[in-house]
Amino acid sequence: MAVRTILRWPDPRLSLECAPVETFTREMRALVADMFETMYAASGRGLAGPQIGAMHRVFVMDAGWKEGMPEPQAFLNPTITYRSQERATAAEGCLSIPGIMAFVTRPSAIRLRWQGLDGTTYVAPFDGFGATCVQHENDHLDGVLTLDHLTAEARAEVLAICMP
Ligand code: ZN
Repeated sequence: MAVRTILRWPDPRLSLECAPVETFTREMRALVADMFETMYAASGRGLAGPQIGAMHRVFVMDAGWKEGMPEPQAFLNPTITYRSQERATAAEGCLSIPGIMAFVTRPSAIRLRWQGLDGTTYVAPFDGFGATCVQHENDHLDGVLTLDHLTAEARAEVLAICMP
């Protein structure tokens, strides 16, 4: 296992769409292990493949490890199959945009279908922080960042405050 370098915005790879995972290999398991190690080392709760230059539809998440309730999960080929009408706004940080918190409004509850490392398909609902995190990481697989959710005005404001 190894801690990988996290790409930072505006690296163009962060704006690309990722390719589906076709085969469930030892290399993919090694990549996911590196993603967990990199996420924990950066004190994050989620990390997507493109953030370390691995352009596959995979992200890892551990919503509770900082509260002593670790729940490491790897999501391959995730698809959001339900989005609630109800919306929620949360301040979202991103390991690829250090120092910036963006207020992003998203569906407050979702249902996700994904595959595990052995190719098994899972379906589960997410709400609260989990829903925010899953949608944030899933966005990365389509080349979408928190800044892309903001109006031009809000984006300029956030960057003016946070960038030196
Ligand atoms: Zn992010």
